[in-house]
Amino acid sequence: MDIYAALFGNCGDAVVIANDQAQIIFANAAAQALFHNDFSVLTGSTDRSDSRLFFEVNDASAIREASFPLKRVIAGMNFCDREFRLQSSEAAPNIWLSITGYPLLLPTTSQHGGILIIRDISKYRAIDLKKVRDSFRDKLTGLVSSNVFMDRIEHALIRVEQKENGLIAVFYIDIKRLKAVNDTFGYIAGDQLLVAVVNRLQASLRPTDTLSRLGGDKFALLVEDVTSFSQVSAIAETIHETLQAPFPIQGNNINVDVSLGISLGNNLSQTADTLLRQADIAMNWAKEAFGEKYCVFKDSMQADDDSNSLHLEMDLKKAIENHELFLEYQPIFLIRTQKIIGVEPLVRWNHPCRGLLPPSQFIRLAEKTGLVIPLGWWVLKESCHQLKFWQETIPQAKQLFISVNMSSQQFSQKDLPGKIKQILDAVNLLPKSLKIEITEGVLIENSNSIIETLKAIRSMGIKLSIDDFGTGYSSLSYLHKFPFDTLKIDRSFLENADSDFEKLEILQSVVRLAWNLGLEVVAEGIETQKHFNQIKALRCESGQGFLFSKPLDAHAMEILLRSQ
Ligand code: C2E
Ligand code: CA
Ligand code: CA
Repeated sequence: MDIYAALFGNCGDAVVIANDQAQIIFANAAAQALFHNDFSVLTGSTDRSDSRLFFEVNDASAIREASFPLKRVIAGMNFCDREFRLQSSEAAPNIWLSITGYPLLLPTTSQHGGILIIRDISKYRAIDLKKVRDSFRDKLTGLVSSNVFMDRIEHALIRVEQKENGLIAVFYIDIKRLKAVNDTFGYIAGDQLLVAVVNRLQASLRPTDTLSRLGGDKFALLVEDVTSFSQVSAIAETIHETLQAPFPIQGNNINVDVSLGISLGNNLSQTADTLLRQADIAMNWAKEAFGEKYCVFKDSMQADDDSNSLHLEMDLKKAIENHELFLEYQPIFLIRTQKIIGVEPLVRWNHPCRGLLPPSQFIRLAEKTGLVIPLGWWVLKESCHQLKFWQETIPQAKQLFISVNMSSQQFSQKDLPGKIKQILDAVNLLPKSLKIEITEGVLIENSNSIIETLKAIRSMGIKLSIDDFGTGYSSLSYLHKFPFDTLKIDRSFLENADSDFEKLEILQSVVRLAWNLGLEVVAEGIETQKHFNQIKALRCESGQGFLFSKPLDAHAMEILLRSQ
């Protein structure tokens, strides 16, 4: 038997040996299969123009140098695990090879020659390439990642600047209430919903439009070659229409609603960053302006955004000392008897220049600047005083409690239970008269230390309530870890619940699960008789909303309490 066959015949790698004339003197079975018995690409010995095999080296700079590797080896060169691309024809898939080669003194003839040991590494390359590609794509939806998206905007801006009257549009798309779906039906359902939304959106877009997932329930869309403003509006309308029909997910019909903000670009003084931020600002305007399906960014929105926060911050610092803050109280009713059992103090700001400001215009800023801490203490003191006064002077209010909102920042303070106790003692108010409302964010941000703090507060006899449930990140499944008494369902659940079957279903399951956890349920945003009937049918204990009463100033509240 041939010595080469004995050595390499059964080798899984392709082995090719040539003499100093670049004639093949041995090729094992693996090599014959790989090259279909045509080794000219290795040896270059026949310069056949009809050859369907050719080599390229991985990195383009080395293409010429490394062609015909066997010829190079015979000439005295060494390769160790160098990667080559073998393409048998234009359309054939690439085969990636790792080649080791070195000169050899042939044992049979004592001639000089060379050997190549060739491994097909295509399957590993495929995994590598997939990894690279995946890093540019969102795993769930397959959409391009935000990095790639920003890059596309930059390129689109370069192109659009060269055109006359050219325009590009960036859409910021926020899918509402995805969290509620996650919480109620689970993350798998939430994921399925996202994929279905994306598929539907993509089917409505042109192939040249770029849709990207920025993260969570936030998406962005780049539309190039925009010719008119009405075209942008039409796209926004289409997006809304496309998502109108419910999505059948795990046997439930889920309705999806989106907030849309749009920014327009036409020159290189703009960047991808500014366009996306502007679209985001416009989206927030659309969200806040009821009934607006979408907003297109205007400079005035930006100005409002910047100067508002700067001036407001300065003003807010003085607001407490200047007695510009005051409280309104919204009654909380027992559903069964429709009697007032508690009140929620809600802060307002009587701004000297801007007039009456609702909390939506300054709480977020107060949180960002830390001012929410003194503000929060002021609210607690003020409402404790007020409650004590009512309890002592109005017979109907003896058992009344206050349900005070506390921001997550207050929970990062040292000795929170001690500070609360001081205030209660100073007013001589029983702990059971106080309920503290916190949003899900508090649990997320301080989840380790929070449980101890909450337990300490509760052991003092103070009640705890989770506010805006269903809008944040928590799921009922981990609520049992926290010592809550009450769960307040966000009012977005009641909006359209009379016409929207799926919302009603979510509401039902939240109430049922809350019961299982031993939590009382308070329904927010009861605006109509229909809402009330639903809440009653669901057997929520208590509720608040415009149907009973809007938030009232202390004087009006007193009259209402006495009238009971
Ligand atoms: P929240 O704690 O969810 O308060 C309930 C909000 O819903 C109040 O808005 C109330 O006026 C409104 N509301 C009540 N019933 C209805 C209804 O039937 N329909 C509708 N559409 N709305 C209803 P408000 O007073 O503007 O407060 C907004 C948010 O500001 C509060 O939401 C709370 O998160 C925050 N906030 C208010 N006061 C304080 C405070 O003293 N401290 C802190 N940290 N946050 C506060
Ligand atoms: Ca609240
Ligand atoms: Ca709430």
